[in-house]
Amino acid sequence: MTTERTFSIIKPDATRRNLTGAVTKMLEEAGLRVVASKRIHMTREQAEGFYGVHKERPFFADLVGFMISGPVVVQVLEGEDAVAANRKVMGATNPANAEPGTIRKELAESIEANSVHGSDSAENAAIEIAFFFQPEEIVG
Ligand code: GDP
Repeated sequence: MTTERTFSIIKPDATRRNLTGAVTKMLEEAGLRVVASKRIHMTREQAEGFYGVHKERPFFADLVGFMISGPVVVQVLEGEDAVAANRKVMGATNPANAEPGTIRKELAESIEANSVHGSDSAENAAIEIAFFFQPEEIVG
């Protein structure tokens, strides 16, 4: 077990339904600490850059459109095995397949509007954190 950081986004479907607190409560109850947080409205360029790994996938244009359809809350989360702990509390990408008690099962609307993003590795977490935060914005 190691203390690490991961990157989270509360997506536009959740901010639109005023679920920022509800999502954050589930993250905190999973043992994660919010050490940086800001509400932003991503530009198209930011969303395309952030999701660049998905640019060949058929849903890329829809995903970018969704991610800029409203504000999001970008967060840095810290905790024991934070990447895995966050992926566990997020649940499967498609809420229909997510375990009960996970954010996506309890709150998400669809496979696209699935309420949260979470880094899939410590390496990607570092890249994603640096995409949105300056080091001095993260206070552990
Ligand atoms: P994640 O790591 O669980 O978020 O899943 P992926 O990295 O595979 O996909 C990134 C994001 O793209 C997901 O969180 C969804 O918002 C969206 N997405 C994934 N699969 C689909 C799909 O089949 N259709 C659409 N419209 N969006 C999808």
